[in-house]
Amino acid sequence: MTAYKDLTKEELLDLKNGLTKEFEEVKGKGLKLDMSRGKPSKAQLDLSMGMMDVLNSGTPLIGEDGTDCRNYGVLDGIKEAKQLMADMMEVSVDHVIVCGNASLNIMYDAVSRAMTHGILGSTPWAKLDKVKFLCPVPGYDRHFAITEHFGIEMINIPMTPQGPDMDMVEQYVNHDESVKGIWCVPKYSNPQGITYSEETVQRFAGLTPAAGDFRIFWDNAYGIHDLYEEEQDCLLEILAECEKQGHPDMVYKFSSTSKITFAGSGISAIAASEKNLKEIRKSMSIQTIGHDKVNQLRHVRFFKDIDGMKAHMKKHADIMRPKFETVVQVLEEELGGLAIGSWIVPKGGYFISFDALEGCAKAIVAKAKEAGLVMTGAGATFPYGKDPKDSNIRIAPSFPTPEELMTAAKVFVLSVKLVSIDKLLE
Ligand code: PLP
Repeated sequence: MTAYKDLTKEELLDLKNGLTKEFEEVKGKGLKLDMSRGKPSKAQLDLSMGMMDVLNSGTPLIGEDGTDCRNYGVLDGIKEAKQLMADMMEVSVDHVIVCGNASLNIMYDAVSRAMTHGILGSTPWAKLDKVKFLCPVPGYDRHFAITEHFGIEMINIPMTPQGPDMDMVEQYVNHDESVKGIWCVPKYSNPQGITYSEETVQRFAGLTPAAGDFRIFWDNAYGIHDLYEEEQDCLLEILAECEKQGHPDMVYKFSSTSKITFAGSGISAIAASEKNLKEIRKSMSIQTIGHDKVNQLRHVRFFKDIDGMKAHMKKHADIMRPKFETVVQVLEEELGGLAIGSWIVPKGGYFISFDALEGCAKAIVAKAKEAGLVMTGAGATFPYGKDPKDSNIRIAPSFPTPEELMTAAKVFVLSVKLVSIDKLLE
């Protein structure tokens, strides 16, 4: 394979002619493909249909401690659901509150509460002239949407193979008191699939923030979403690490079963220090009398315990693995050695992150759309939708069928090649 940059203008034009014909043929097929959002496929959702059978009209909906799950109450979640989520989040049960169907909701509430009421007695953020959040990039668009919604200034922090650039994080957090938070997806990050190294987690726990109400928003959405049994990334548990380093209140940890059971009807949880949880309960008790305990019970009866949940995740992995491998194989076969893009091969999570030549991402996504393939919008992985290099594209392989995915990956690489040639011809 010769790198495109080493080809002459004539060679590039020749190549473009052939690829354009190929592209027009694909376009003529009227394809309708979607690699845009990280949604579980139908086959994955079907894995949890047993959850519909564990409760029926003959089953008493009574929790372990006698709670009637049909009725009001139990703000924290039922005992057995707390245990399940605590085990999943690798924390003790008294550090957990089980919430509703979406962890994103808890994250929004955490920011919203800090804006209106401050944190543990601090000035409400809305009353401050400036509030800033650090945003490791590329990252999750919905995190950035929350902070943008509240008018919080977002600062890009580049990701490295070990996690966010910690020199930069320390510089900002330890010296700028308007920096109040950081968004983190510490395991199989969205979109790169990077897991923070032990050193990175320790440096997070060792931060000495200029702002007393600085919080790490630790969104461990993909904590048990491994693709390979024998090759799993390992993440140091942040809550214990923060405690060890004398900063027990510095982190809010989030998780959910959205990518374990049903993406719209799972259960979510927050884990934090006792002090933080007390404050969260106070405002939560104004918002609700209690979350959906029937759904909590359904989850516990379906999985029984964390081992049941982990066994279930292997079934997800069996569906996801071939999809990831298909995309990676097409990228390697079609783009390897051409020096027009790079990607990371993840060991879990939901995404593959692709970095095109600078200034090409938007055009590639548009080109793919011409041929019927919807990708996540270029720029979405950066705050304000602005990728300064216009280079990153998030590939979400979970939703299409394996056959659709092969076609989609081919349309994608064709689009990458055509746009890159045009860039090199400029
Ligand atoms: N956090 C991350 C990093 C995600 O990628 C997603 C969904 O794609 C979510 C949170 C959404 O989680 P939930 O469904 O629990 O709101």
